[in-house]
Amino acid sequence: VVEVGTPDRSVITTCAYCGVGCTFRAETRGEELVRMVPWKDGKANHGHSCVKGRFAWGYAQHKERILNPMIRASVDEPWREVSWDEAIAHTASEFRRIQTKYGVRSIGGITSSRCTNEETFLVQKLIRQGFGNNNVDTCARVCHSPTGYGLKTTFGTSAGTQDFDSVQYADVILVIGANPTDAHPVFGSRMKQRLREGAKLIVVDPRRIDLVKSPHVAAEHHLPLRPGTNVALLTAMAHVIVTEGLANEDYIRARCEWDEYEDWAAFVSQRERSPEATEALTGVPAADVRAAARLYATGGNAAIYYGLGVTEHSQGSSTVMAIANLAMATGNVGREGVGVNPLRGQNNVQGACDMGSFPHEFSGYRHVSDEPTRKLFEQAWGVSLDAEPGLRIPNMLDAATDGVFKGIFIQGEDILQSDPNTHHVAAGLAAMECVVVQDLFLNETANYAHVFLPGSTFLEKDGTFTNAERRIQRVRKVMQPLNGYADWEIVQLVANAMGLGWSYAHPGEIMDEIAELTPTFTNVSYDALDRHGSLQWPANAAAPDGTPTMHIEGFVRGKGKFVVTDYVPTDEKTGPRFPLLLTTGRILSQYNVGAQTRRTENVAWHPEDMLEIHPVDAENRGVKEGDWVALKSRAGETTLRAHVTDRVAPGVVYTTFHHPDTQANVITTDYSDWATNCPEYKVTAVQVGLSNGP
Ligand code: SF4
Repeated sequence: VVEVGTPDRSVITTCAYCGVGCTFRAETRGEELVRMVPWKDGKANHGHSCVKGRFAWGYAQHKERILNPMIRASVDEPWREVSWDEAIAHTASEFRRIQTKYGVRSIGGITSSRCTNEETFLVQKLIRQGFGNNNVDTCARVCHSPTGYGLKTTFGTSAGTQDFDSVQYADVILVIGANPTDAHPVFGSRMKQRLREGAKLIVVDPRRIDLVKSPHVAAEHHLPLRPGTNVALLTAMAHVIVTEGLANEDYIRARCEWDEYEDWAAFVSQRERSPEATEALTGVPAADVRAAARLYATGGNAAIYYGLGVTEHSQGSSTVMAIANLAMATGNVGREGVGVNPLRGQNNVQGACDMGSFPHEFSGYRHVSDEPTRKLFEQAWGVSLDAEPGLRIPNMLDAATDGVFKGIFIQGEDILQSDPNTHHVAAGLAAMECVVVQDLFLNETANYAHVFLPGSTFLEKDGTFTNAERRIQRVRKVMQPLNGYADWEIVQLVANAMGLGWSYAHPGEIMDEIAELTPTFTNVSYDALDRHGSLQWPANAAAPDGTPTMHIEGFVRGKGKFVVTDYVPTDEKTGPRFPLLLTTGRILSQYNVGAQTRRTENVAWHPEDMLEIHPVDAENRGVKEGDWVALKSRAGETTLRAHVTDRVAPGVVYTTFHHPDTQANVITTDYSDWATNCPEYKVTAVQVGLSNGP
């Protein structure tokens, strides 16, 4: 029984965990949050929630939260608490000093998918207007940047095609590289509801995730492919669809570039792309691939949902395009119940991408080299803007170790724990002269910081988040910021110390500027959001009430573009020293690197990361349930406990990355997506052996 006081006030706000975007009534008594009640009118959750949004908010008042700014001259010195005035002045003068000494492109920053759209917009504005370069990137670099590239190339815009409600019209649901019941629980439940009503399910995943078989739900087909072979498997499905005459040629002729379709169809029809020819490679029986392809093409409305098991590969962008090819070939884009739907991980990763967090794009996905767009921003911001794309996160770190990149502003991201190859990240940060971390807690990255600016939680600010279905929703202040300032105010203080003269009195004014400069947001304002409850972009003159389903009349780019996606094996190879393949994921009660959930009661449900290993692989190594094992790759080594289970196939091991002790990313490699540098987290060759523990 949880004892709660009697609330005297309530505020409607949005969950700050995953990309489902559940809304809650936050009930308070004075300045104390009493409980979070899922809001029945929430457009994304319809009154439902999961254990994170409902219960895991205690971190906001956790004793480890840092509330005062701190600086130090070098990372070997202890932190010194200073006033906000001193911290802000020091930050601004360090950035200016570095630029004077090393050049205008020697500094940059990282926006946070945990912060609001308004805060993200301000960080990229600080970098473009104040730093004078495009060295801005975001944590989408390590998760859904291939979605941005792949969907923009094929459909013309970097976002999922449907709203969540659309799943109720799906007859066939294909889930690939996603585990919705753990990572997007409220939508996962919605999907299960539709499956219980009779929709058919295809799961493409190396693990037997809960959806494959759980009470009242069983997948028609589970294709447990070998990690790293997504493109080969999707191409084999395309082979079946084209060679068996299942493609929807009327749709393709009307909606897509026909010549490109013919090139693609000729490619996928080759014998060597068939399920039989690729069976040994993917590890999936050809008959199962054929049956799944036939069901997807002929089973009625077919919707695809995917996650990081698609994007975090050396062929992440190719896999996204291969998915888009399948959907176009079968006419499954542009109405309810179909589509291509990335399940975004973080609460505002869609928004962070929308707001111009990439080094090559302004808000609304417009390239920095596009002169009319650049002029628009130059007029609004009163400066000349750099037409050259800036550096991505891994390139900033490379440039730092090369001695030409010297300062970084990191808002709400623990890159030391979340980015690949921890040694590489550490070396890059250590080579910089000024690392500024703005966060709630002294995270792992802060070990390399010279300035720490305390951040504020979602309960302490106003703003908006954009969920995985492009739904912009209000975040409302529930309590005053314990650190004194909301994150958007801190960015404004830094900007003004650098002489930029900003004067936002409320985040609503920032949203007005976003709307003025971003064609897909023209009709978005706090008034409109309060009136509608939420808006799905594009929300503009052509779609005043927003856009639940995209590409209805035609694709955003005009005609849909088929792209030939040839399977290219990853450079990460198994062999005698590293015979197993490691893949990673999340669990329901925890969230990403665990900075928040580990500081709540939820930690009791998952106190440590474990290594799932198949009974055959465990027996070969003398490993039993609960034993400590050493996990080694070419990049590094860590220790964790074994969980012996046939959820993973022989030859595959799996772990989560919620606890810093595990340091799962010490193991992962530098390999990344060819188009976007998204790291290849899902494929690492490893060896497992008994250990005495950490
Ligand atoms: Fe929050 Fe996601 Fe859980 Fe909803 S499903 S309550 S958005 S973590």
